[in-house]
Amino acid sequence: MSDPLIDLYKKSLLSPHPWRTSRAPFLLPDSVLKIMSQEIQQFGRPLDWPPDDEGGAKTQAKAKGVRPGEGLTVLRRLLAQLPADAFPPAAAAPIPPAPASGMEDLRLAMRASRKPFTERWQPARAEVDFLWRLYEQMVADEYAQLKNVRKPHDWWPALQEFEQRGGATLYADLRPVYFRSKVTRPHKLIMMMQPGGVRVAGVPVQQGIHPEFVKLLRKADGFIKRSVASQFGSAPVKYIGCFRPDPLGVGDARHVSNHMLGAAVDIDATRDKVARNPHLQKDQIKAVDRVLAFHAKTTIGHGPALVASGSWLADFPAAGTPEDRAQHLYTEMLNVSLDVRAFLDAWLDRWIVFTNVPQSTLASPAQATRDEAFQVVTELVRTFGGMKRSARAPLEDAPGVKALRNVQKNGFVSIPADIFIAMLKAGLRSGLEYGAAKDTMHFEIKSPSALIAASGFP
Ligand SMILES: [Zn+2]
Repeated sequence: MSDPLIDLYKKSLLSPHPWRTSRAPFLLPDSVLKIMSQEIQQFGRPLDWPPDDEGGAKTQAKAKGVRPGEGLTVLRRLLAQLPADAFPPAAAAPIPPAPASGMEDLRLAMRASRKPFTERWQPARAEVDFLWRLYEQMVADEYAQLKNVRKPHDWWPALQEFEQRGGATLYADLRPVYFRSKVTRPHKLIMMMQPGGVRVAGVPVQQGIHPEFVKLLRKADGFIKRSVASQFGSAPVKYIGCFRPDPLGVGDARHVSNHMLGAAVDIDATRDKVARNPHLQKDQIKAVDRVLAFHAKTTIGHGPALVASGSWLADFPAAGTPEDRAQHLYTEMLNVSLDVRAFLDAWLDRWIVFTNVPQSTLASPAQATRDEAFQVVTELVRTFGGMKRSARAPLEDAPGVKALRNVQKNGFVSIPADIFIAMLKAGLRSGLEYGAAKDTMHFEIKSPSALIAASGFP
């Protein structure tokens, strides 16, 4: 498939372009154009913007941690090698001998003939600027196409997600993220999202869904209907959200989430305005594991015995039928949830009382148990939101304590077992199957790369 930015550039050569000021511009050769187009689309910002002369600007770029741009490096090398008559008359000065190879040779050659090189560089740089303007225009046009895909577009949920979170600016920010993950025409992928009409357990799936993912959701819904639909008087879950323009990772390491592909759903992230089905992060799981280890030594546990690896959450089985695995995952999560609730019932109030007014020592075995339990509570509070609150506010107002009160009341999972199992039976992966974190609300397509290829945007 052709590169849309290169296509635009080639098109700009067919007739005089208003953004080109020079009558005799330096046209970027194909080799440079190909590298630069990739770089521009991968990062969406200039890489190691080179100086008009040796020195200052390059050092500044380095200090800011900007990565060197290969396209510009290749262009500079090429410029140093080209004969003088390849340039507009202004640059027709004596040129240095072509360097044999390597950047050091090039640097020496350029230093030896700084002025002629600078004169060559100016028209080339003007052309690179021109390519950047083409890119920015292209991205703006893509977003405009997104906005025009349906009229009126205010009911089109995938676009609405963009509009509410930052519009064209957000699209420009995320386009390189999509591009790096091989979605080379993200606006077309987003336009494919089905705006609605898919229900799971009677609840409409919101925010746009990739057509391939629609099939999986329909399948899952089929399993639910056969098993439990009649058992629920009211909706067993309240909200299912799919498309969300929100990448994973940070900086240039960001990559597409399955939500960005319309290929993942979150079920009841909140319910009645309270957090449910949490996405537990690594440090939270460690703290939960401490709870499990603690009550493995006491009698309050509901779950199975602690496994050798030290973490129940890390020990979900890889084998078995999807249904068996789903049943196992769900039961494990429920057990962990029950254990943590029982632990909080036993210790959270006592910890708060103790933290407010430290009490006298107990008899030694009880003291040791209490100390250990309080350490575990402290760790839970820290990882679930911390102690920060206004000076006179009671401990109950600390975000960590509030979050734990919620866990104490509602546990870690409110999605009914039958819905959970139907999703996995249909071929989706649960966020509980992640290695480092456990995302209880989350269900996604198993192989997003197949989906990207199937969408025709490899
Ligand atoms: Zn999710």
